[in-house]
Amino acid sequence: MTNLPGIVITGASGRMGQMLIKTVQDSDKARLVGVVERPGHDWIGRDVGTCMGGAAVGVAVSDDPLELFAHAQAVIDFTSPAATVGFAALAAQARAVHVIGTTGLSDEDLLKINAAARHAPIIRAGNMSLGVNLLVQLTKTVAAALDEDFDIEVIEAHHNKKVDAPSGTALMLGEAAAEGRGVSLDNVADRGRDGITGAREQGHIGFSAIRGGDIVGEHDVLFAAAGERIVLRHVATDRAIFARGALKAALWGQAQGPGEYDMMDVLGL
Ligand code: NAP
Repeated sequence: MTNLPGIVITGASGRMGQMLIKTVQDSDKARLVGVVERPGHDWIGRDVGTCMGGAAVGVAVSDDPLELFAHAQAVIDFTSPAATVGFAALAAQARAVHVIGTTGLSDEDLLKINAAARHAPIIRAGNMSLGVNLLVQLTKTVAAALDEDFDIEVIEAHHNKKVDAPSGTALMLGEAAAEGRGVSLDNVADRGRDGITGAREQGHIGFSAIRGGDIVGEHDVLFAAAGERIVLRHVATDRAIFARGALKAALWGQAQGPGEYDMMDVLGL
């Protein structure tokens, strides 16, 4: 039992943090060795099981990530960009696998993550589910097969607490469509339309974001031409799919050297 890889979860009180804690605890392939919250959080020092409204699990919530990372084999991190950049440096220092689910990272954040990946494996994906990663592959294939007569639009819907748009998954899908077409997404992305925008430009890839209620995550890639439409769709109904994917990545990362990886690598797609 104690030979199982030890996992630390950051952002313990978050929607994904709590789901990850349950997923690791239910797993017979890993053990929960620590959970992190920000200094001053009212969970600090308390048993995380009771904080989550259940039985005590013998793991106290800590605000000292480096101490925990030093005794862990992997860190699973679904927090905020600023927190994730800090955790990447600490996980690298501890030589622990860092699984990053956090979205909304800037180019500057990504450079820092890239630097940390020189010391330990980092697996990062805007979406950790098997279904979405398959959808990314399908999007690339369909975009490569169709010409610019088909307008590509990525439409996503999420719960009303989500802070970034378009979602990390929508951007992954946009990148896949652009790659299939052999163009750079930066040159063709239409992110948000309002007012007199003019007619849609051929070859562009559009993004629309819907926010409401408790929607876990829905993504459509629409290929629309005169007289016909193709829609590729993924609907997530349970955050557990992301947590299971993240744990799979943490276990897969145990056999990898330093470097940056994504879920395509983990799933062998
Ligand atoms: P959330 O409920 O707001 O949880 C974020 C957690 O991180 C909160 O508990 C927050 O604490 C904590 N946190 C922020 N800064 C911290 C720090 N410096 N130290 C420790 N903890 C810190 O958000 P969520 O819905 O779980 O989503 C989290 C991230 O995962 C988002 O970027 C989201 O887009 C992404 N996500 C990715 C996937 C995927 O498959 N890749 C799936 C779902 C979500 P406070 O409440 O104190 O700020």
